[in-house]
Amino acid sequence: MNKDFQVSPEYAFQLDSQDKLASFRDAFIVTDPDLIYLDGNSLGRLSKVAIERAKQVVEEEWGGGLARSWNKGWWESPARVGEKIAGLVGAAAGQVVVSDSTSVNLFKLTMATLALNPQKTRIVTDTMNFPSDLYILQGCVQLLGNRHEIVRIDSKNDGITPDLDALEKAINEDTALVTLSLVLFKSGYLYDMKQITEMAHRKGALVIWDLSHAAGAVSIALDDCNADFAVGCTYKYLNGGPGSPAYLYVNKSIQEKLSSPIWGWWGQDKPFVFGLDYSPAHGAERFLSGAQPLISMLTMEAALEPLLQAGMDSLRAKSILMTDYAIFLTENLLVPFGFSLGSPRDSAQRGSHISIRHPEGYRINRALIDEMNVIPDFREPDNLRLGFTPLYLSFTEIWEGFDRIRRVMEEKRYEKYSAQRLTVT
Ligand SMILES: *Cc1c(COP(=O)(O)O)cnc(C)c1O
Repeated sequence: MNKDFQVSPEYAFQLDSQDKLASFRDAFIVTDPDLIYLDGNSLGRLSKVAIERAKQVVEEEWGGGLARSWNKGWWESPARVGEKIAGLVGAAAGQVVVSDSTSVNLFKLTMATLALNPQKTRIVTDTMNFPSDLYILQGCVQLLGNRHEIVRIDSKNDGITPDLDALEKAINEDTALVTLSLVLFKSGYLYDMKQITEMAHRKGALVIWDLSHAAGAVSIALDDCNADFAVGCTYKYLNGGPGSPAYLYVNKSIQEKLSSPIWGWWGQDKPFVFGLDYSPAHGAERFLSGAQPLISMLTMEAALEPLLQAGMDSLRAKSILMTDYAIFLTENLLVPFGFSLGSPRDSAQRGSHISIRHPEGYRINRALIDEMNVIPDFREPDNLRLGFTPLYLSFTEIWEGFDRIRRVMEEKRYEKYSAQRLTVT
């Protein structure tokens, strides 16, 4: 942690003046300069290139090109865009494709993994995983006749970090699959991908990493870690837009042994022969199923450009400085009002968001959104979650955001809100 941090707006301004990524903010649409947007870990901002590309895809490629556009870059887009994402997650060519949602990709890879080792019946995950991931696992187990057992590792007493000893004990010779989120969606804890992958491989288990809260925020080295599989979404730090298609990674060394549980024509070897029997495409492309949402896919592809230009090393360095600064401000401005940190203090164990916990967290979140023009989000039971996107967030905005939270507390503005939850928190 930087020891020189100071509690003043001038200090935030000084950090901005030293920020090499500051100019990337101009690549994004900012309709309300007063808005402090701390939810880019949930839905990334709209970039100018994405708007241009969306217009072009709709008007020129769909409107003008019509079916001709399939041969002008549409058909190959799952693999082509996959290669761009591969550059952000440390994967060599031929291993990442864009398709479907993260949940569906996790389903496909889980079923393929379990089919590869049918005699092994244990699946290991943790209770801090994104619930959709747990639902997918439960659905797979039911589909396979309830022969498998899902073992969920708890957090340590802090509720922030996983119990790694318990994890190691849970992975045994009977374990087919270990699946975890690389960055936990509540606490922001960052697993050591290499350590856990080696731990699983020692017992002969394969690992699926969910990179949704990690890609574009932390440095990821899938190939160097000898990872087996990964899935992730593109609308968080990758700024692809609401519901933009997700991606999956399959290590080259196991691709040809795997079979997708969904045999569709986009995963077929020669789809335009229109043969009556399925034969899988080579490589990760066998995990494609049907036509993708092309407008969204190609818009997302354009949105990757600013990230690729900035480079993951610079993004990660700024992200660490931002979350360190945010923890410093939490301790200096908010702990006196009863907040506690719900995230790791060590940046090596942290993604690009932090949770700050308060018994009135839900009502404070409502007051921030409704009165203070600050958008964080809330995760049960008491986490006010703050996302720090290195590409377009400034240190001045972080300062201002914390100062507004402080004002909500000082003026007890949250007291007039109901604790009744809205549909989307
Ligand atoms: C956001 C997120 C998802 C999203 O899943 P979709 O099926 O693409 O909606 C999945 N896993 C994690 C860990 C997430 O944070």
